[in-house]
Amino acid sequence: MTRAPGRPAVFLDRDGTINDDVGYLTDLASLEIYPYAPDAIRLLRRAGFAIIVVTNQGGIARGLMTEAFVQDTHRRMAARLERAGAVIDDWFYCPHHPESVVPGLATPCVCRKPGIAMPLEAAARHGLDLERSWVIGDHWRDVQMGHAAGMRAVLLRTGHGLDQEAARASEQRVEAICDNLMAATAFVLEESRRVFGA
Ligand SMILES: [Mg+2]
Ligand SMILES: [Zn+2]
Repeated sequence: MTRAPGRPAVFLDRDGTINDDVGYLTDLASLEIYPYAPDAIRLLRRAGFAIIVVTNQGGIARGLMTEAFVQDTHRRMAARLERAGAVIDDWFYCPHHPESVVPGLATPCVCRKPGIAMPLEAAARHGLDLERSWVIGDHWRDVQMGHAAGMRAVLLRTGHGLDQEAARASEQRVEAICDNLMAATAFVLEESRRVFGA
């Protein structure tokens, strides 16, 4: 039986990757999308990648924000990005946290990164080929999620990335460490051409 090849995707972390990491984002006034983010997303999508945001939003479990606020944030981010020509194909968030104060939202869960439930669900919903896909984020847990799901990964130096880079475990591997999402985009496009001839 042959299986139709799926579309490759780039899974983007949210805070510290697309927008400035301000700690728990609880006020839309402090939402700052990095100036290069729309162009980076547009370039990746033009190259044929689906763009999927995967974000841990444990502030929901900690009672710092509601699920409706997170959904509203994503609607507004999507609108701002689309005005700049950048389309996000889908958004996934994990509402759970180890220090949950909200019933039903304690960890362990399958979705909190480095868990792989979010990319697996996205792959099923959008017909994605994870073997040709990437994750880009500012935490090792983003990289670990990517590798556990059979993807390649880039760690960024924006957000918490510099601290993460400094705290690298000796066994931690990653395809590249890049200064920001635009640099990572250049690497992903180049490396995908080299590896997959895309
Ligand atoms: Mg992040
Ligand atoms: Zn979760």
